[in-house]
Amino acid sequence: MSNIQILGAYGAKSAKGGSSAFLLNTHHVLDAGNLLRPLREKSAVLKSIWITHSHLDHISDIAYILDNYYEQRTEKLMLRALPETLAILKEHFFNHKIWPDFSEIPLADGSDMSLGYEAVKPLESYTLDDDESIYAFKTDHTVPSCGYVIQKKKTSVLISADTYSLEGVIDMVRKDESIRTLVLECSFPIALFELAKASKHLTAQLLFERLKPLEGKGLKLYINHLKPSYENQIKEEIKAYQKNWDVHILDDGDIISF
Ligand SMILES: [Zn+2]
Ligand SMILES: [Zn+2]
Repeated sequence: MSNIQILGAYGAKSAKGGSSAFLLNTHHVLDAGNLLRPLREKSAVLKSIWITHSHLDHISDIAYILDNYYEQRTEKLMLRALPETLAILKEHFFNHKIWPDFSEIPLADGSDMSLGYEAVKPLESYTLDDDESIYAFKTDHTVPSCGYVIQKKKTSVLISADTYSLEGVIDMVRKDESIRTLVLECSFPIALFELAKASKHLTAQLLFERLKPLEGKGLKLYINHLKPSYENQIKEEIKAYQKNWDVHILDDGDIISF
């Protein structure tokens, strides 16, 4: 079995939990909403952060890794994302006003710069490790966004991140038979449908309606990105709508085995 660990499971940081982040292996994480507290000194050996989109609940800890582990880090930290997302991060985050542009700041040992940017091409496969790879696919959110498919030993997990439509997800599952596990978002209770629509997120009703084309395929479904203030309500609604889906609602620290 292969594993991916959930570092942050929620759609916002709260007293109870962290926002979106996944540990893919020792050197690679997907999103950076909650890295420092779960990883602590292991943050110093991270090489790549694969970013889904530029919203704060997915990027906030990039800033603090560079800050807290500046002296321990010996390799450039690579931010990998769609070119549009990298442009937003450079213009609005690492701009010397919100946070320093660490791509202009050398590592403590002077061997390289602290931060680098590399654009990800949708559907192009990148190596994470022996027998481990990743590719991005475009999703439907209020800013440029992508999900990722992570393959380990020939079996894959699809992580959608924030999205309103599931067309990209359904398309990927149809094209890539190695995908056996999905991690999809469910951010709001059904009563807040208008807010979900405006902010391009899913409710339990929307999620399971849109998953209909994938019913009966034996896929395992993990759900993340619940807004913490509506957690109990969303969980009840997922139960009411999940029918025959094998569902697990994610919490910080959970392990996805596949
Ligand atoms: Zn989010
Ligand atoms: Zn978002």
